[in-house]
Amino acid sequence: MNLTLALDIGGTHMRAAVFLDKENLPIKHSRIRTQGGNESTFDRLIRLIRAITPPNQSINQIGIAVPGLIDPHQGVILTTPNIPEWTGMPIVEMIEDELGVPTVMGNDANLAAMGEWRYGAGQGHHHLLYLTISTGIGGGVIIEDRLLVGSHGLGAELGHVTILPDGPLCSCGQRGHLEALASGTGIATYVAEQLLAGKASCLKGKPDTQLIAKAANNGDNLAKAAFDRAGYYLGLALANYLTIFNPTIVIMGGGVSQTGDLLLNPVRRSLDSALLSCEYLQDLVITQAALGDDAGLFGALALAQGNKSLIQNPK
Ligand code: ADP
Repeated sequence: MNLTLALDIGGTHMRAAVFLDKENLPIKHSRIRTQGGNESTFDRLIRLIRAITPPNQSINQIGIAVPGLIDPHQGVILTTPNIPEWTGMPIVEMIEDELGVPTVMGNDANLAAMGEWRYGAGQGHHHLLYLTISTGIGGGVIIEDRLLVGSHGLGAELGHVTILPDGPLCSCGQRGHLEALASGTGIATYVAEQLLAGKASCLKGKPDTQLIAKAANNGDNLAKAAFDRAGYYLGLALANYLTIFNPTIVIMGGGVSQTGDLLLNPVRRSLDSALLSCEYLQDLVITQAALGDDAGLFGALALAQGNKSLIQNPK
């Protein structure tokens, strides 16, 4: 019996699932809070892995999805904002030393792309672009059936491209990144600023993006303008991505993508106006993610089962 353990580390929860052979239905799954008590986050992770391992059996391989900047080739976390104690941590070696199980790691948004490609909305496509539009914006790119990670594993950071020079401040400290303009946080910050400046709206104070979407659907002009603005910049970014990667499918995940046409209509408009050629839109599918919160976990599964060869490694 061949058992694969997939792990998805989030700022709030760590989730684990055990899969049998090449199956994609977990035989066991579990989640715990990422931080808690006096225990280190790494000790909590090891405890989670031990707890989910079926009695008298052993795990054959582990795949792990981690947020932030990581080097998947070296198995090292460079920075992961929600778990500062993991900065510089050689997590793959540490897990292998502790448990003796071969382990592979990927960035969570990169692996979400891989999850959607293998098991979700992107099945059958060879060139895929995935964007998660949530608190921040993450991305992943599959090119010719391989995940693009770059020489140091830092590629496909699709939320951190400059779309508006000197634009709003991004969570990373730079200005005008797509994430600062079109993420849930970016939309909410824009609305809060406009309200403070006295713009008329049914919204008050610092509404979250879900509330703003509701107001937009009820006809509130400021809320609609906020989505038009986010969609405009997202469309410009998408035009850049299509020009570089020429995918056959663009998959949108994350909470904000659930607004559907409210965001997608302005995306389509600016995409059309900014593209080099309408040929990029030939047979292009733009669709919502199928796996929801499980995309990263399934990507970790695909990585562990398919081993490292799925990652493009020019070294
Ligand atoms: P996380 O960022 O933790 O992965 P989500 O993908 O749910 O979580 O993204 C959270 C962001 O998405 C917040 O800005 C939230 O307001 C927004 N959001 C969540 N659901 C919706 C929705 N249905 N419509 C619009 N915005 C949403």
